[in-house]
Amino acid sequence: MEDCIFCKIIRGEIPCFKIYEDDSVLAFADINPISDGHTLIIPKRHAQNIWEIPEQDLMAIHRASKKIASAIKRALNPAGIVVLQLNGRGVNQVVMHYHLHLMPRAQDGPELPVSCWELKKGDMDRIKEISEKISSEIS
Ligand code: AMP
Ligand code: ZN
Repeated sequence: MEDCIFCKIIRGEIPCFKIYEDDSVLAFADINPISDGHTLIIPKRHAQNIWEIPEQDLMAIHRASKKIASAIKRALNPAGIVVLQLNGRGVNQVVMHYHLHLMPRAQDGPELPVSCWELKKGDMDRIKEISEKISSEIS
């Protein structure tokens, strides 16, 4: 995609701190890191989101995520790693080229806001109804 910032990174028109690359994916450091080691993994073939991305690229990204998460564990010995991926402007996806975030939390680092929410007991009837509604759409 001509104007896509991540496609520009793939084409080498914009620099990045490259962490990993193979035939299908590129991983590089997020320049607004939520924590040390915050890494993005993107498909080389442009797709906006989980609905658009071909399964093959999705698998390549997740294969790479294991490799990179293992490297982060060895390199930084974090307390844990959040794996996060946003789809759509409604959930604050900003760059409309599919990307998987790997966000390590340092041993002595602050809680990551994305991994810290309050558990509130749900309404079981509502949970059941919604689960059935989604399940009935799976082909
Ligand atoms: P989001 O679309 O909300 O999942 O997040 C987009 C992410 O891309 C943000 O965390 C940005 O900091 C990151 N980002 C945007 N432009 C660049 C860039 N040129 N190099 C590295 N990371 C970037
Ligand atoms: Zn793109």
